[in-house]
Amino acid sequence: MRKKFNRHLKYNGKNNKKASNKTYLLLAVIAAGGILGVYFILSGFPNDGNILKKETVVCIDAGHGGKDMGASLGDRLEKDDNLKLAKLVQTQLESSGIKTVMTREDDSYISLDDRCKKANRSRADLFVALHRNSAESGSGVEIWVNSEPSKTDNALAENILQGVDKVGISQNRGVKSGYISGKDKDYYVNKNTKMPSCLVEMGFITSKSDNELFDKNIEEYAKAIAQAICDTAKKLAIKIKLPVNVGSLIFIL
Ligand SMILES: [Zn+2]
Repeated sequence: MRKKFNRHLKYNGKNNKKASNKTYLLLAVIAAGGILGVYFILSGFPNDGNILKKETVVCIDAGHGGKDMGASLGDRLEKDDNLKLAKLVQTQLESSGIKTVMTREDDSYISLDDRCKKANRSRADLFVALHRNSAESGSGVEIWVNSEPSKTDNALAENILQGVDKVGISQNRGVKSGYISGKDKDYYVNKNTKMPSCLVEMGFITSKSDNELFDKNIEEYAKAIAQAICDTAKKLAIKIKLPVNVGSLIFIL
Protein backbone atom coordinates (compact mmCIF):
# COMPACT_ATOMS: atom_id res chain seq x y z
CA MET A 1 0.00 0.00 0.00
CA ARG A 2 2.77 2.35 1.00
CA LYS A 3 4.67 1.45 -2.10
CA LYS A 4 1.64 2.21 -4.24
CA PHE A 5 1.14 5.53 -2.51
CA ASN A 6 4.72 6.49 -3.12
CA ARG A 7 4.46 5.49 -6.72
CA HIS A 8 1.33 7.57 -7.00
CA LEU A 9 3.06 10.59 -5.55
CA LYS A 10 5.96 10.15 -7.83
CA TYR A 11 3.64 9.84 -10.80
CA ASN A 12 1.85 13.04 -9.88
CA GLY A 13 5.11 14.81 -9.31
CA LYS A 14 6.31 13.85 -12.78
CA ASN A 15 3.12 15.17 -14.28
CA ASN A 16 3.42 18.49 -12.47
CA LYS A 17 6.99 18.80 -13.59
CA LYS A 18 5.95 18.22 -17.19
CA ALA A 19 3.29 20.88 -16.90
CA SER A 20 5.63 23.42 -15.36
CA ASN A 21 8.30 22.68 -17.96
CA LYS A 22 5.75 23.48 -20.65
CA THR A 23 4.82 26.72 -18.92
CA TYR A 24 8.46 27.75 -18.63
CA LEU A 25 9.06 26.91 -22.26
CA LEU A 26 6.03 28.94 -23.32
CA LEU A 27 7.15 31.88 -21.16
CA ALA A 28 10.67 31.63 -22.57
CA VAL A 29 9.35 31.66 -26.14
CA ILE A 30 7.14 34.68 -25.41
CA ALA A 31 10.00 36.50 -23.66
CA ALA A 32 12.45 35.67 -26.46
CA GLY A 33 9.96 36.94 -29.02
CA GLY A 34 9.52 40.14 -27.07
CA ILE A 35 13.25 40.68 -26.73
CA LEU A 36 13.77 40.04 -30.43
CA GLY A 37 10.98 42.48 -31.24
CA VAL A 38 12.44 45.21 -29.05
CA TYR A 39 15.92 44.48 -30.37
CA PHE A 40 14.85 44.81 -34.01
CA ILE A 41 12.81 47.93 -33.31
CA LEU A 42 15.71 49.60 -31.51
CA SER A 43 18.51 48.56 -33.80
CA GLY A 44 16.78 47.82 -37.06
CA PHE A 45 17.40 44.48 -38.71
CA PRO A 46 21.06 43.59 -38.44
CA ASN A 47 22.82 44.54 -41.62
CA ASP A 48 25.51 41.91 -41.46
CA GLY A 49 23.39 39.84 -43.79
CA ASN A 50 22.52 37.22 -41.23
CA ILE A 51 18.81 37.85 -41.26
CA LEU A 52 16.67 37.09 -44.25
CA LYS A 53 15.43 40.31 -45.76
CA LYS A 54 12.98 40.90 -48.54
CA GLU A 55 15.30 43.06 -50.54
CA THR A 56 19.05 42.96 -51.05
CA VAL A 57 20.77 46.33 -50.83
CA VAL A 58 24.31 46.87 -52.08
CA CYS A 59 26.33 50.01 -51.57
CA ILE A 60 28.68 50.88 -54.42
CA ASP A 61 31.40 53.35 -53.55
CA ALA A 62 33.10 55.11 -56.45
CA GLY A 63 36.43 56.13 -54.89
CA HIS A 64 37.51 59.80 -54.66
CA GLY A 65 35.60 62.60 -56.46
CA GLY A 66 35.54 66.40 -56.69
CA LYS A 67 38.72 67.95 -55.33
CA ASP A 68 40.03 64.47 -54.53
CA MET A 69 41.16 63.15 -57.91
CA GLY A 70 42.79 59.95 -56.69
CA ALA A 71 45.66 58.67 -58.82
CA SER A 72 46.28 59.88 -62.35
CA LEU A 73 48.16 59.39 -65.57
CA GLY A 74 48.30 62.59 -67.61
CA ASP A 75 44.71 63.77 -68.05
CA ARG A 76 43.31 60.49 -66.94
CA LEU A 77 41.94 60.71 -63.39
CA GLU A 78 41.14 57.82 -61.13
CA LYS A 79 37.95 59.48 -59.82
CA ASP A 80 36.48 59.42 -63.36
CA ASP A 81 37.35 55.78 -64.03
CA ASN A 82 35.89 54.77 -60.66
CA LEU A 83 32.60 56.58 -61.30
CA LYS A 84 32.26 55.16 -64.82
CA LEU A 85 32.70 51.60 -63.56
CA ALA A 86 30.48 52.19 -60.51
CA LYS A 87 27.60 53.40 -62.69
CA LEU A 88 27.87 50.37 -64.96
CA VAL A 89 27.89 48.04 -61.95
CA GLN A 90 24.83 49.88 -60.62
CA THR A 91 22.95 49.35 -63.92
CA GLN A 92 23.80 45.66 -63.91
CA LEU A 93 22.74 45.17 -60.29
CA GLU A 94 19.47 47.03 -60.68
CA SER A 95 18.60 44.97 -63.75
CA SER A 96 19.06 41.88 -61.53
CA GLY A 97 16.61 43.29 -58.97
CA ILE A 98 19.22 44.35 -56.44
CA LYS A 99 18.75 47.76 -54.85
CA THR A 100 21.86 49.91 -55.01
CA VAL A 101 22.99 52.81 -52.90
CA MET A 102 25.70 54.96 -54.46
CA THR A 103 28.04 56.97 -52.26
CA ARG A 104 28.30 59.40 -55.17
CA GLU A 105 26.66 59.62 -58.58
CA ASP A 106 28.57 62.58 -59.95
CA ASP A 107 31.91 64.31 -59.57
CA SER A 108 31.35 65.52 -56.03
CA TYR A 109 33.63 65.28 -53.06
CA ILE A 110 32.33 62.97 -50.33
CA SER A 111 34.42 62.37 -47.22
CA LEU A 112 35.30 58.81 -46.29
CA ASP A 113 33.28 59.20 -43.12
CA ASP A 114 30.18 60.30 -45.05
CA ARG A 115 30.55 57.34 -47.40
CA CYS A 116 30.52 54.94 -44.46
CA LYS A 117 27.64 56.74 -42.78
CA LYS A 118 25.58 56.54 -45.96
CA ALA A 119 26.27 52.82 -46.31
CA ASN A 120 25.48 52.13 -42.66
CA ARG A 121 22.32 54.23 -42.65
CA SER A 122 21.04 52.47 -45.76
CA ARG A 123 21.59 49.13 -44.01
CA ALA A 124 23.25 47.77 -47.10
CA ASP A 125 24.01 44.04 -47.10
CA LEU A 126 27.29 44.46 -48.95
CA PHE A 127 29.68 47.33 -49.66
CA VAL A 128 32.04 47.45 -52.62
CA ALA A 129 34.52 50.30 -53.12
CA LEU A 130 35.91 50.77 -56.61
CA HIS A 131 39.38 52.24 -57.11
CA ARG A 132 42.34 52.13 -59.43
CA ASN A 133 45.87 51.53 -58.27
CA SER A 134 49.01 53.51 -58.90
CA ALA A 135 52.72 52.79 -58.68
CA GLU A 136 55.89 53.54 -60.60
CA SER A 137 55.67 50.05 -61.97
CA GLY A 138 53.11 47.36 -61.44
CA SER A 139 49.97 46.07 -63.03
CA GLY A 140 47.00 43.86 -62.31
CA VAL A 141 43.98 43.70 -60.05
CA GLU A 142 43.99 43.27 -56.28
CA ILE A 143 41.19 43.42 -53.75
CA TRP A 144 41.50 44.53 -50.15
CA VAL A 145 39.50 43.23 -47.21
CA ASN A 146 39.57 44.04 -43.51
CA SER A 147 42.60 42.95 -41.45
CA GLU A 148 40.24 40.55 -39.68
CA PRO A 149 38.02 39.59 -42.59
CA SER A 150 34.76 37.74 -42.15
CA LYS A 151 33.99 34.76 -44.37
CA THR A 152 31.68 36.98 -46.39
CA ASP A 153 34.33 39.69 -46.85
CA ASN A 154 36.61 37.03 -48.31
CA ALA A 155 33.88 35.41 -50.40
CA LEU A 156 32.84 38.76 -51.84
CA ALA A 157 36.42 39.68 -52.73
CA GLU A 158 37.27 36.23 -54.12
CA ASN A 159 34.11 36.13 -56.25
CA ILE A 160 34.83 39.56 -57.73
CA LEU A 161 38.47 38.72 -58.40
CA GLN A 162 37.62 35.42 -60.09
CA GLY A 163 34.97 37.16 -62.17
CA VAL A 164 37.19 39.92 -63.53
CA ASP A 165 40.06 37.46 -63.96
CA LYS A 166 37.86 35.46 -66.32
CA VAL A 167 37.14 38.59 -68.34
CA GLY A 168 40.87 39.21 -68.65
CA ILE A 169 43.32 41.17 -66.49
CA SER A 170 47.07 41.65 -66.77
CA GLN A 171 47.75 39.98 -63.42
CA ASN A 172 45.79 38.51 -60.55
CA ARG A 173 47.43 40.05 -57.50
CA GLY A 174 45.10 38.29 -55.10
CA VAL A 175 42.87 39.20 -52.18
CA LYS A 176 44.84 41.07 -49.54
CA SER A 177 43.88 41.89 -45.98
CA GLY A 178 44.68 45.02 -44.02
CA TYR A 179 46.23 48.09 -45.57
CA ILE A 180 49.01 48.59 -48.08
CA SER A 181 51.35 49.93 -45.37
CA GLY A 182 50.47 47.49 -42.62
CA LYS A 183 48.56 44.32 -42.00
CA ASP A 184 47.13 45.61 -38.74
CA LYS A 185 45.67 48.70 -40.40
CA ASP A 186 42.60 48.88 -42.60
CA TYR A 187 41.26 50.91 -45.45
CA TYR A 188 38.88 53.40 -43.85
CA VAL A 189 35.81 52.16 -45.68
CA ASN A 190 36.56 48.52 -44.86
CA LYS A 191 36.98 49.39 -41.21
CA ASN A 192 34.04 51.70 -40.76
CA THR A 193 31.27 50.06 -42.73
CA LYS A 194 29.17 47.63 -40.72
CA MET A 195 28.41 45.20 -43.53
CA PRO A 196 30.77 42.82 -45.37
CA SER A 197 32.93 44.92 -47.65
CA CYS A 198 35.90 45.00 -49.96
CA LEU A 199 37.92 47.55 -51.88
CA VAL A 200 38.67 46.70 -55.51
CA GLU A 201 41.80 48.10 -57.13
CA MET A 202 40.75 47.66 -60.74
CA GLY A 203 44.18 47.69 -62.36
CA PHE A 204 46.86 50.38 -62.29
CA ILE A 205 46.00 53.74 -63.79
CA THR A 206 49.76 54.21 -64.10
CA SER A 207 50.00 51.21 -66.44
CA LYS A 208 49.14 51.88 -70.07
CA SER A 209 48.27 48.25 -70.69
CA ASP A 210 45.97 48.12 -67.64
CA ASN A 211 44.23 51.25 -68.93
CA GLU A 212 43.73 49.63 -72.33
CA LEU A 213 42.22 46.59 -70.66
CA PHE A 214 40.05 48.81 -68.47
CA ASP A 215 38.67 50.74 -71.46
CA LYS A 216 38.17 47.64 -73.59
CA ASN A 217 36.57 45.50 -70.88
CA ILE A 218 34.78 47.99 -68.65
CA GLU A 219 31.30 46.66 -69.50
CA GLU A 220 32.41 43.07 -68.98
CA TYR A 221 34.17 43.97 -65.73
CA ALA A 222 30.97 45.64 -64.51
CA LYS A 223 28.95 42.54 -65.38
CA ALA A 224 31.44 40.27 -63.63
CA ILE A 225 31.51 42.47 -60.50
CA ALA A 226 27.69 42.61 -60.42
CA GLN A 227 27.44 38.85 -60.90
CA ALA A 228 29.91 38.24 -58.08
CA ILE A 229 27.91 40.55 -55.82
CA CYS A 230 24.68 38.70 -56.73
CA ASP A 231 26.28 35.32 -56.02
CA THR A 232 27.57 36.50 -52.65
CA ALA A 233 24.23 38.10 -51.74
CA LYS A 234 22.32 34.92 -52.62
CA LYS A 235 24.43 32.89 -50.23
CA LEU A 236 23.86 35.48 -47.52
CA ALA A 237 20.10 35.44 -47.97
CA ILE A 238 19.75 31.75 -47.13
CA LYS A 239 21.98 31.96 -44.08
CA ILE A 240 19.64 32.81 -41.23
CA LYS A 241 21.47 33.20 -37.98
CA LEU A 242 20.65 35.18 -34.88
CA PRO A 243 23.06 37.82 -33.71
CA VAL A 244 25.15 36.46 -30.81
CA ASN A 245 23.89 38.90 -28.17
CA VAL A 246 20.25 38.03 -28.79
CA GLY A 247 21.14 34.34 -28.96
CA SER A 248 22.78 34.45 -25.54
CA LEU A 249 19.79 36.22 -24.01
CA ILE A 250 17.51 33.45 -25.24
CA PHE A 251 19.94 30.88 -23.91
CA ILE A 252 19.92 32.51 -20.47
CA LEU A 253 16.12 32.46 -20.44
ZN1 LIG B 1 41.81 55.24 -55.06
